[in-house]
Amino acid sequence: NGVLMSQMSRPCQMMLLVNPQSGKGQALTLYNNHIQRMLNEAGIKHTLVITERQNHAREMVKEADLSQWDALVIMSGDGLLYEVINGLLERPDWEEAIRTPLGILPGGSGNALAASIHHYSGASPVTSEELLVSCGFLLCKGLVSHMDMVSVHLCSSPRLFSFLSLAWGFVADVDIESEKYRHFGAVRFTIGTLVRLASLRVYKGRLAYLPATRDHNSEEALRSNTMLCKDRVPPVTLPAVRDSSFHNSCHSNNSLKVRRVESTPSRSVTKALPGPHDSLLPPLDQPLPDDWVVVPEEDFVLMLAMYQSHLAEDLLAAPEATPDDGVIHLFYVRAGISPTALLRLFLAMEKGAHLTTNCQHLVYTKVRALRLEPYSPKGIITVDGEVVEYGPVQAAVHRGLSRLITG
Ligand code: ADP
Ligand code: MG
Repeated sequence: NGVLMSQMSRPCQMMLLVNPQSGKGQALTLYNNHIQRMLNEAGIKHTLVITERQNHAREMVKEADLSQWDALVIMSGDGLLYEVINGLLERPDWEEAIRTPLGILPGGSGNALAASIHHYSGASPVTSEELLVSCGFLLCKGLVSHMDMVSVHLCSSPRLFSFLSLAWGFVADVDIESEKYRHFGAVRFTIGTLVRLASLRVYKGRLAYLPATRDHNSEEALRSNTMLCKDRVPPVTLPAVRDSSFHNSCHSNNSLKVRRVESTPSRSVTKALPGPHDSLLPPLDQPLPDDWVVVPEEDFVLMLAMYQSHLAEDLLAAPEATPDDGVIHLFYVRAGISPTALLRLFLAMEKGAHLTTNCQHLVYTKVRALRLEPYSPKGIITVDGEVVEYGPVQAAVHRGLSRLITG
């Protein structure tokens, strides 16, 4: 009890990971100009960790003594959070580790999660330094929500986890081709889009998905309530859940330790590997169950699976998404769309209006899992904006598996 009391009364400790190379290379300057003072004024103790190379953050959080930290906050683009999440889920104590409250401050060129958090707060859209100040403020408020995680299976790479998006075709190509314009900041996607539109192509493959039904949703909510989040409110009010402030997480960390997860029989199959069991997915080389839908088209311009609202600072790709709706918002654009019509879609997406443009080539559906088998031997698939192994891929959502500071 003495230990509990002293832990509860110690001041909040935040690890702030800054990538000095992200975006325009200004993350440290932005920290000095805005964030340091905001955190000090809010009385939030933090330790600055400057990342030195790719995978530095991933290795650090994999080994870190997480009991020392009440929150891990990333100041970079989405790429650094992707590393941190995968590092946490590679730990033997992943169940506990992934519940560490995570925060993000936009310091990169792809700041989709930061833009999503700002959007969830109900504030009107902003970009650049205004977005940073807003996210800094929400971080200081410190309220924590649950966030969905999507597990991604590839042919020969180990399973990985995603918090934002899975893309193939036009969007994936633009994302990667535009990395050379990173020094322009978020404008890189606009430049990349225009360049790709000029040489628009068709991507062939087979797409299938498990539809998200109302039943599934409450089933999943119940399951995640029993398995992971006993403190959550009933499923109907789930999207709005704000369970605690990370300032109180010394307290909540202790209470989390009491909650044990009962292992299910099927879990023993994947026991050797850390991370949650994927009950929705058969092995990638096995046929899909009957309740999956196979998309009739095989010629696409893009496939985009989103689990947060924003694809980039100024692209509201999934207007309906909330941090823990337990849904993958699946979009695909059929081949045959003209470059002009596709451009119109992306322009409308700035306001999240692409679904109301009546574009006959755009399909939107809510799913819990999906499988994509590209036919072409070469190409780009991205997860959270990072390139992954090209080839067959499947993914399934784990509702509210992680925790995110949303303010
Ligand atoms: P951006 O939005 O600018 O792409 P990201 O956060 O996505 O920013 O970071 C881009 C990549 O930089 C990530 O893959 C990350 O692993 C890598 N990285 C992190 N720290 C460093 C560093 N010090 N030098 C170079 N690359 C780094
Ligand atoms: Mg990036």
